[in-house]
Amino acid sequence: SPRGDELDGLIWELHRTGQMLNREIDDMRRMESYRREFIGNVSHELKTPIFSIQGFAETLSDGALSDPKVNRTFLQKIIRNANRLDRLARDLSEIARLETGTMEIEMTRFDLGELMREVTETLLPKADQKDVSLRQATEPKALPAVRGDRERIRQVLVNLIDNAIKYNESGGYVAVSAQRQGEAVQVLVQDNGIGIPERHLNRLTERFYRVDKSRSRHQGGSGLGLSIVKHILSAHDVQLHVESTVGEGSTFTFVLPVA
Ligand code: ADP
Repeated sequence: SPRGDELDGLIWELHRTGQMLNREIDDMRRMESYRREFIGNVSHELKTPIFSIQGFAETLSDGALSDPKVNRTFLQKIIRNANRLDRLARDLSEIARLETGTMEIEMTRFDLGELMREVTETLLPKADQKDVSLRQATEPKALPAVRGDRERIRQVLVNLIDNAIKYNESGGYVAVSAQRQGEAVQVLVQDNGIGIPERHLNRLTERFYRVDKSRSRHQGGSGLGLSIVKHILSAHDVQLHVESTVGEGSTFTFVLPVA
């Protein structure tokens, strides 16, 4: 009967609305637990350096330390932890912009070889300090111009090279190179550092994911570097690739289109 058909239609509508609501609720739950986990991570990351700064500063202000050398060591620890907080604050605001999609990607044509040279030069002092040899293994002029957001790609290179230096041993090397592959240029950041166990490889770009927490913290890492790299590259429709062998080193690669 027409009445029965109407009722069937109504029941079907109700059923469908119910399903949609369930999906929405699931999504909201997921977002909520994601948000909670994120806040938990952030407060944990903040606590460690803040506690250290408080502890060292209080000891210094008690005047209990008469040895000027120990005083200096304490001050250096305070500075190092303040730097960690600074890095964390900057990386967090970057992540927030990247994840909410409010970051604007400005695609231009730029000289990749020149950018590689610039970044390598900026990081040389840090490499020297750690007794790691950092070199650009490709003649800059040999590379074609590429398309991408120059400032963002600079950050990708900085984060990758910075890691290659941080997770290296004294006497190690970092090589930055690029090679043309048809209509793209492949960029490689290669190190012969500590390497990464296979089981960690597909989680490296998760926020706050670290293979060795204490080593990362000691190096001033925020645990967000590779997550930022992944976001920037995916805004370019590009993937980050990693190959690594424990004790032998790691190679991070990505491609950019030729302009
Ligand atoms: P972090 O601030 O801890 O360096 P990242 O997101 O940049 O955070 O990197 C995540 C983790 O990946 C690091 O904590 C480190 O364990 C590992 N890692 C990254 N790059 C390298 C590398 N070149 N060699 C060895 N391990 C690396």
